[in-house]
Amino acid sequence: MVKDKDEIREKFEQVARWIIDSERTVVFVGAGLSTESGIPDFRSPGGVWDRYNPEDFYFQNFLSSEASREKYWKMSAEMYEPMKKAQPNLAHMAIAEMESLGKLDCVITQNIDGLHFKAGNSEGKVIELHGTAMSVSCLRCGKKYDRDQIQERLRKGLKVPYCEDCRGPLKPDTISFGQPMPEKETEEAYHRSSVCDLFIVIGSSLVVQPAASMPLVAKRNGARLVILNRDPTPCDEMADIVIHGQAGPAMASILENVKKGLK
Ligand SMILES: [Zn+2]
Repeated sequence: MVKDKDEIREKFEQVARWIIDSERTVVFVGAGLSTESGIPDFRSPGGVWDRYNPEDFYFQNFLSSEASREKYWKMSAEMYEPMKKAQPNLAHMAIAEMESLGKLDCVITQNIDGLHFKAGNSEGKVIELHGTAMSVSCLRCGKKYDRDQIQERLRKGLKVPYCEDCRGPLKPDTISFGQPMPEKETEEAYHRSSVCDLFIVIGSSLVVQPAASMPLVAKRNGARLVILNRDPTPCDEMADIVIHGQAGPAMASILENVKKGLK
């Protein structure tokens, strides 16, 4: 056990040294980071997909059927509540602190919960690959709506919200099944991955595409690759350091080492 402890401490110190030496650190995060803030992973057993049929939620159906829109909003409203209440955890705080120390190129996130902003990261530093549940837009004219206001109307009994200007259907700004990935964000994420010198994966099982290919892009272009995840991932073998454990405490330790080293 003592040896294990030493080994993990050495890993934290090594990652910290790499962050200090790095000119472009990209942090890539997945659902595991949000679950540590109490947001259920919707793909896990007991998640919403046990109670809803994913086929009802294809973007095409949302566009074409009022009944689909109603089901979608029922599910979406249910998923939003724990997200709204959630607070950033130690890993989110560490990533925000990396930005304030000038040690973060960007964070690429698969999450839709806006927790990086709650932690203090700024707009230009966060690339949301799957959009955000924190805002709502009209699919016809693009008008933006505050999520909480829409949520309040749903709570009062509204089934499907429509745009007050053009009567187009409103939808949260998340990427649904069958909806193309956001072009600008995806391109930007690939670009940042290809030019970084350190790529740190936190809380992602790296199985969903295109996200899963980003560590490969980074590695192929000469970046160091660090993977911090509860379970093994398909990319573990090519990583320079793999840490299996909780993201929050690990990132807090790594950041402590970074601050000591920067003094
Ligand atoms: Zn509209």
